[in-house]
Amino acid sequence: MLTFLNRRRVLTAVILLTLLLTLPLTSRTVRLRFFGPRIQRISTWFANPAAHADWQVEIGTRCGNAPMIFPTTGFIGVGWGDGLWPLYQHTGYDIFSPAGAENVTPNIAAYDGYLTREDDWLSTVIIRHPDFPPFNGSPLSPGEQIWSYYTHMASADGSVSYVDPAFPPGTREKFVTAGTLLGYQGTWSGRPNDPVGLHLHFSIAASGADGSYTNETEIGNTYDPGLFLGLTANEEGIIGCWR
Ligand SMILES: [Zn+2]
Repeated sequence: MLTFLNRRRVLTAVILLTLLLTLPLTSRTVRLRFFGPRIQRISTWFANPAAHADWQVEIGTRCGNAPMIFPTTGFIGVGWGDGLWPLYQHTGYDIFSPAGAENVTPNIAAYDGYLTREDDWLSTVIIRHPDFPPFNGSPLSPGEQIWSYYTHMASADGSVSYVDPAFPPGTREKFVTAGTLLGYQGTWSGRPNDPVGLHLHFSIAASGADGSYTNETEIGNTYDPGLFLGLTANEEGIIGCWR
């Protein structure tokens, strides 16, 4: 028969053991809570993309009269602003390929502009779009310059870049038209062998006062890509061309 003290010890041990056993689950649960229901669909998507073809947006397509074309093929699993403000808000679209392998799904320029790839950019390019023209629902001031940003174009270990060889590190202000191949979707996270799920992170960054791009990891420096692509979330929260 357990004394009160023993029962307390047993209870503490059980609680500790439960915590230890469920730690990976806890972090997953926290992640899901953090991003909301939209992100829960990512695992569903990866399990069987063909079963959810209606979630997929096709590369090079234009939604209605939107100024930008869709920069890759896949499911927009994480949207702009997803996350738990003020701790974190996602700054662009994460577009998950159905291919099941990296270096297969092309990424293209969403709009005409001037491409830069910094010397130390393994997986990323950015395109400057000066004097962006007015369009329906535009958040921009007249004549405002913006930048479109494309990343994760490298292998999980960081040994292979999937950025097109036309844009080696150090490329500056190279003119590209909408639809130009930039590279292929990869899994590089910025840390060796800590891969992200296969996707393109696509964002629209504002210009700084000096005309350079701002830090696109800050939500306040970015615009909702959906405004430029003509995409919205439907009642289920799936982002697509619902018009
Ligand atoms: Zn992202």
